[in-house]
Amino acid sequence: MQKYDYDALLNRAVESLPKNVKVRERFEMPKGVIFHEGNTTILRNLGWIADHVNRDVQHLFSYLLKELGTAGDIDGDRGIFQGKIPPTKVQDKIEKYVNKFVICKECGRPDTKLIKVNRTLMLKCEACGAIRPVK
Ligand SMILES: [Zn+2]
Repeated sequence: MQKYDYDALLNRAVESLPKNVKVRERFEMPKGVIFHEGNTTILRNLGWIADHVNRDVQHLFSYLLKELGTAGDIDGDRGIFQGKIPPTKVQDKIEKYVNKFVICKECGRPDTKLIKVNRTLMLKCEACGAIRPVK
């Protein structure tokens, strides 16, 4: 009778996965396409970023406006901010949003959703089951 230990079984399972599945397991921080147009700052792929992290585009945009201390509008897939904001600063806020509202603090995965428990906004992880308040 053949015996396998747990690690060996796990390695076999990983090896037998098709390649594209393994790639999708890894979360990549969304990169904003940001440029200036006149006296505004355009985030060209705002809609894509919201899709990528599975969050509401309004929620993401409101957060960015608040963090950047400016006003703006959503125009289709684009976010438009008043004023010339350094692209690195916008990217920094996108990453802050993702770390705060998307990534599970327990397991580091992005498979989470926002829920409200007694009016408190909580981040629930579908991968490991962790629930914690968003601060
Ligand atoms: Zn988790």
